[in-house]
Amino acid sequence: MKATPPHPRLSPPALVGPSRARVPAAHAEDIHQILISAPRIRRRVEEMAHAISEDYRGERLVIVALLNGTILFLADLIRHFEFPLRVDLIGVSSYRGGTSSGELEYTKRLKLDLKDHHVLIVDDILDTGKTLRAVTRELALQKPTSIRTCVLLDKPSGRSDSFQADYVGFQVPHLFVVGYGLDYDERYRNLPFVGVLQQHIYEPETPAHP
Ligand code: 5GP
Ligand code: MG
Repeated sequence: MKATPPHPRLSPPALVGPSRARVPAAHAEDIHQILISAPRIRRRVEEMAHAISEDYRGERLVIVALLNGTILFLADLIRHFEFPLRVDLIGVSSYRGGTSSGELEYTKRLKLDLKDHHVLIVDDILDTGKTLRAVTRELALQKPTSIRTCVLLDKPSGRSDSFQADYVGFQVPHLFVVGYGLDYDERYRNLPFVGVLQQHIYEPETPAHP
């Protein structure tokens, strides 16, 4: 078995701006703008899955995904893998209702043994980097063969340290995004796209229709 998987083969992530995709009428009250449309997410997730497959084929791989923001990303990513792997979930949260508390709270611990396995940690978005740095450090205690990280979104403007993910889907600007698993106060996880909230949602004193 190779000690470390080859250097990630994924093309660099695009920096996304407002998309031309129209916000569906059903969501227009809450969503100001679509940043990444559902078809664009689908194409990129497939590219990510392909690169990860090439890098880990034939290896003992455990995917460790962080709840709850990865629910859609994880499901779409792993359905492309055509080799045996194991999946486990950990519950860790640093945000409550949209603001960072700075503290990590474990709500579900890992079940699988990671020793002598390659580990790929999957998260929805890399912001300050505190979550993935802490989780990586914790999982490393189990002495896996290697650890890498995979995120759908990277918000480099939020970073408080130099943490980099190995597989990144898209770079997003300094905005709070929701959809495709990402929430605001546990809402909007079901949206098939990534978008930006209307201001009146997080600043309720702002009238919806001025
Ligand atoms: P970090 O520890 O890197 O600052 O935070 C990562 C976590 O913060 C993510 O897993 C996600 O739960 C949350 N987060 C950071 N930025 C955003 C954002 O723009 N939208 C949402 N919905 N969650 C975010
Ligand atoms: Mg999260």
